Amino acid sequence: MRLSQMLFVTLREEPAEAEIPSHKLLVRAGYIRRIGSGIYAYLPLMWRVLQKISQIVREEMNATGAQECLLPQLQPSDLWRESGRWDTYTKAEGIMFALTDRQERELGLGPTHEEVITTIAKEMIRSYRQLPLNLYQIQTKFRDEIRPRFGLMRGREFIMKDAYSFSADEESLRAIYQDMDRAYCKIFRRCGLAFRAVEADSGAIGGSASQEFMVLADAGEDEVLYTEDGKYSANVEKAISLPPEVEPSPFKKYEKLETPGTETIEKLAKFLKCSTTAVVKNVLYEALYDNGTLVLALVHIRGDQDVNEVKLQNELVRLAPRYQAKTLLALRVPDESAQQKWAAKPLPLGYIAPDLPDDYISSVKDVISEFLRLADKTVVDLKNFVTGANEFGYHVVGANWGKEFQLPELMVDIRKARPGDRAIHDPSQILQSTRGIEVGHIFQLGTKYSQAMGATYTNEQGEELPLVMGCYGIGVSRLAQAAVEQSYDKDGIIWPVAIAPYHAIVVIPNINDREQVEVAEKLYNELNLAGIETLLDDRDERAGVKFKDADLIGIPYRIVTGRAIKQGKVELVERANKQSQEIAIEEVVTNLR
Ligand code: ATP
Ligand code: MG
Ligand code: MG
Ligand code: MG
Repeated sequence: MRLSQMLFVTLREEPAEAEIPSHKLLVRAGYIRRIGSGIYAYLPLMWRVLQKISQIVREEMNATGAQECLLPQLQPSDLWRESGRWDTYTKAEGIMFALTDRQERELGLGPTHEEVITTIAKEMIRSYRQLPLNLYQIQTKFRDEIRPRFGLMRGREFIMKDAYSFSADEESLRAIYQDMDRAYCKIFRRCGLAFRAVEADSGAIGGSASQEFMVLADAGEDEVLYTEDGKYSANVEKAISLPPEVEPSPFKKYEKLETPGTETIEKLAKFLKCSTTAVVKNVLYEALYDNGTLVLALVHIRGDQDVNEVKLQNELVRLAPRYQAKTLLALRVPDESAQQKWAAKPLPLGYIAPDLPDDYISSVKDVISEFLRLADKTVVDLKNFVTGANEFGYHVVGANWGKEFQLPELMVDIRKARPGDRAIHDPSQILQSTRGIEVGHIFQLGTKYSQAMGATYTNEQGEELPLVMGCYGIGVSRLAQAAVEQSYDKDGIIWPVAIAPYHAIVVIPNINDREQVEVAEKLYNELNLAGIETLLDDRDERAGVKFKDADLIGIPYRIVTGRAIKQGKVELVERANKQSQEIAIEEVVTNLR
């Protein structure tokens, strides 16, 4: 491409609207133009960058067997009502642009595509033989963000790659999730980004396991907490920790516990042959440690509550990582009305994370049955377990129950993490904080959408089961800007070669010099023929202006047909380090290849 024929306008002044370097640079270098709040035009240079990123994404997604498609952006409200998200997305969260068509039908502009894809799956997937499947698209998403800012970082219209997987069971979902994890790492590495995978909250999308990919940069809107040993990193929204210091007396805090009424407690104490204090402080326990390792986390269900077993399991699975537990058990806490039931069947639900090795599962099963036996017999001599409420900061380790209630020796106080806290996996590790830009997010959705929308398949035994889903997003346009935020200097952008709009730019310092023009034209043609995407700065401008522009737009290699052509040489300058060398004209192509 010749600059003289391109829509190529660079700005000297910093745009008033921009706060962070990448945003300023993309506007100044003519990559993007603001059209409205959170609405940007991708100009020709930008579009090339976006296409390059998309191509890398496409190649790595295809390599995992995922299939590309394109889903509608106009989405009927019915679908969102079926999933139960219409009101949250249009009113409570207000993130979805909603409109009414001329037939008075409500529509939303797609902020995400779970509803659309689940509808397709519902209609098209019948049998386990069609599974697993992973479908993806690269497309514009619409979100009415409360605070659109930082250019492409938080737009109201932006490009996302979103993929949705369908499996027969959790095991297959986890396999795809891992494939996506690996593919994402390859994608971000190929794009030249320094990134970090962190544990994440699944937010309004729902589901259990979820991981974000963060490009570390001061301008990031997310805070990441991590340990130096590299064993822990999580979005602060999700991170848990031990506080810097152990607090001595936990007792006051128990007042916050939701306990059954006095009468129930008395009955229960009689039943358990222990003091009422022990009931209050220990029956509402939440986790069981075995030599310091958390083996059980317990969810309490009020005795009078009717609980859907699937929902409960989901809840347990959700809670497991929060407490870093591998095994979970639900416990029905009795009240008057459920006393009889409870007495007959004290601990009705147990669940072991299915990805654990068999020997671990069997040992934990032993622990559970032992636990059940003890509870059943009300021989309450379990040692050193954790008690507490369903809330951070209300936990005690070293609690023992029995007729004589023993003072808890140590408060654990697992809490929502803050920088400077001690890490759960190793209290000698202190949590550090850094800023991150979320460029990707993968989720194990489970059956949330398939159940709500009735997307089922028939298994080998002829049973009808809900599809097990995952979803996987990459912010393509945000990624492009994140790459700039990570790589620039005082003169402009420094694109990683893989996503640069062009690899090289041939600059003619003086277009009135025939020889300079001839050599430049020749190199320009040869480079392009050799597959090295090259720009030609053939504008009638001063050399200084051209060099400044080349630096600003960040093309990795600059070739200058200047004075040295008298010796059959040109100047080759590397954008990243400004290193310059004179090389023979006929060596330029081989040098850059
Ligand atoms: P954020 O926390 O930044 O609002 P999100 O968690 O809402 O992002 P997801 O629903 O996980 O976003 O969407 C997948 C990806 O889409 C994100 O990881 C991010 O890279 C990108 N993305 C989300 N919102 C925007 C936006 N407003 N502008 C640009 N990219 C976005
Ligand atoms: Mg968001
Ligand atoms: Mg987020
Ligand atoms: Mg996210």
